[in-house]
Amino acid sequence: MVNNMKIPFSQISTTGQQYSLDLQEFATEKEIFSLQGMVSLSCLLQRKSADRIFLQGRIQATLLLYCDRCLQQYVKIVDSKLSFICETDGSSYHRMKEIDLTTRDLDIVQLEEAVIDLSEIIRQQLYLSVPQRRLCKEDCKGICSICGTDMNCNPCRCSREPANNPFAVLAALKEK
Ligand SMILES: [Zn+2]
Ligand SMILES: [Zn+2]
Repeated sequence: MVNNMKIPFSQISTTGQQYSLDLQEFATEKEIFSLQGMVSLSCLLQRKSADRIFLQGRIQATLLLYCDRCLQQYVKIVDSKLSFICETDGSSYHRMKEIDLTTRDLDIVQLEEAVIDLSEIIRQQLYLSVPQRRLCKEDCKGICSICGTDMNCNPCRCSREPANNPFAVLAALKEK
């Protein structure tokens, strides 16, 4: 099992070379996501200059996330195409970057040294694929704030009279 795969830019072909990496285990922050099965990265690396490489590839994984509303674990399939430039901080492009970025559609990943770590690319891409709002489904009803019931499987009585609705409170008063 390969745990990391660090490739110095100097070893990357200028005409492009295919790499692939399958990781069975991958350390993640479990409260954000965990991995079900394997994560696969396959990519083409091409050296553009001593301090720049181009990466184009695909990442596939199955993430286990917790729903923000009902707190149940759910599955999210990741199958994304990647395309970006990796360059080192010392790159001559660095100074021009601000101007450059506006005219270029490719993302730039800054690296400390002229070495690409494919397991680090996987880590970054997995974190990027975790949505800001994690929902098991768009219309997840969540957990009742009053009785704690998961309203997806078992709608409770209190959910029909939301406490933050002033009219519901008035109606409840009238009934007494
Ligand atoms: Zn949910
Ligand atoms: Zn309730």
